[in-house]
Amino acid sequence: MTVTTPTAGDGVAARLVATRHRVAAAERSAGRAAGTVRLLLATKTVPAELVRAALVADAAARQSAATAVAPVLVGENRVQELVAKAPALADLAPELHLIGPLQSNKVNHTLCWAACVQTVDSVELASRIGERAGVMDRSVDVMVQVNVSGEATKRGVAPELAADLAAAVAATPALTLRGFMTVGANSPDLAVVRAGYAGLREIRDAVLASAAPGTATATELSMGMTGDLEAAIAEGATIVRVGTAVFGARVG
Ligand SMILES: *Cc1c(COP(=O)(O)O)cnc(C)c1O
Repeated sequence: MTVTTPTAGDGVAARLVATRHRVAAAERSAGRAAGTVRLLLATKTVPAELVRAALVADAAARQSAATAVAPVLVGENRVQELVAKAPALADLAPELHLIGPLQSNKVNHTLCWAACVQTVDSVELASRIGERAGVMDRSVDVMVQVNVSGEATKRGVAPELAADLAAAVAATPALTLRGFMTVGANSPDLAVVRAGYAGLREIRDAVLASAAPGTATATELSMGMTGDLEAAIAEGATIVRVGTAVFGARVG
């Protein structure tokens, strides 16, 4: 639960500003309007105090910005970490997303804190979340995770099955299908990474064009990390998930 680089809130604040600039520059060079890409802080292994420092710095920076900027989202990979840190951030009311695998016995805990589960990769998981959300009398935002690279180590539904899963999720009561999420290919060739991101965009566009019930809200593309966010933004990312660029390299 440590980071190697200086853990002072100051360092995080400066890196957050730099990351915001990076996203803005990528929006510009992709010919996209400013503010069309939201920044999600990937906070695995980052202590709650440091996440808090980032959120406080973000709020201050947004207040002094000339134009309206959406607050950062916070994404946790592990339910255990989500549940451990969320209470310490609750007064700042960040929008929390789960960006790692969800086992069905952890759905309850997740829904206590997360507004969105980005990692739905089966009908079974979708129905389980839908069931629990129904019991809690609320609706839950979800995204379908797609394995665009086909790498065996990556989670997510195969691209050719993504549209069917999306339609099933969209038809599940108490779930709102927000869009699609992927972890890009682990390749030094940016063209390969970028082709995967283009593939996710094509899946989303096809699902939107299908006009299947409940799919009209499926506009989000959660893709791109510290190493490749420019490629993702060029291919239409609406959420980039950044850890290292803001918090430094992870060791644990
Ligand atoms: C860790 C992680 C990120 C952020 O990766 P960085 O390279 O540190 O920016 C994004 N998405 C997921 C799912 C992650 O696990």
